Amino acid sequence: MKSITRQKPLEEIERQLEGMDRIYLVGCGTCATMTKTGGREEVLNMKEHLQGLGKMVTGWTVIPIACDEMTDVSLKESNGAISNAHCVMVMSCALGVHRLAGYINKPVIPAVDTLFIGLEEDPGSFHEVCAQCGHCVLGFTGGICPVTTCHKHLLNGPCGGTNDGKCEIDRTKNCAWTLIYERLKTQGRLDVMRKYQPPRNSHVIPRPRMTKIS
Ligand code: SF4
Ligand code: SF4
Repeated sequence: MKSITRQKPLEEIERQLEGMDRIYLVGCGTCATMTKTGGREEVLNMKEHLQGLGKMVTGWTVIPIACDEMTDVSLKESNGAISNAHCVMVMSCALGVHRLAGYINKPVIPAVDTLFIGLEEDPGSFHEVCAQCGHCVLGFTGGICPVTTCHKHLLNGPCGGTNDGKCEIDRTKNCAWTLIYERLKTQGRLDVMRKYQPPRNSHVIPRPRMTKIS
């Protein structure tokens, strides 16, 4: 399971950097390396691009896991280059950006957009598997998430528009509930499809959400 990211358009990156000419670059050795948005190669490409714009890159690093608390330790080695920079550009998911923003008293600029939590299906092909809805029903759906896989987020079976196993909203995609049916049938558990899932509480949840491990 990874944070799936996509590089922001260069114009947007450049707009964020207005008035800042010295930049320290940070990549991430985990998710962003896998999605080719913030690994060594992408960081070096960004360095070259920024230098082509006349910016100075005071230094760069690829932190093993940018969202990890050890990020603080990794950054200490680069204190000089960071203090010499106007800002730190982060090529990791938003978790890494938040982590760095908490450690560095300088503008922290994201170079990528965080899209979703996903899995790699084929090499280089990622798909969303969980929207972190807060009430998991995978135990009733054969491990296939109806919240992310069904276009209508239906929890109690198909909408009726399924055609040849394809979704009526997007014929290029498999119908989530056909997939769920097939999976449960293979497991001899079709009876669980009859278990009623109560409606979700759609009231606005105060943010940020929090939980405590006891
Ligand atoms: S139901 Fe789907 S979106 Fe909700 S927690 Fe489970 S996998 Fe995630
Ligand atoms: S066709 Fe299937 S995936 Fe598409 S909206 Fe209906 S139930 Fe959901």
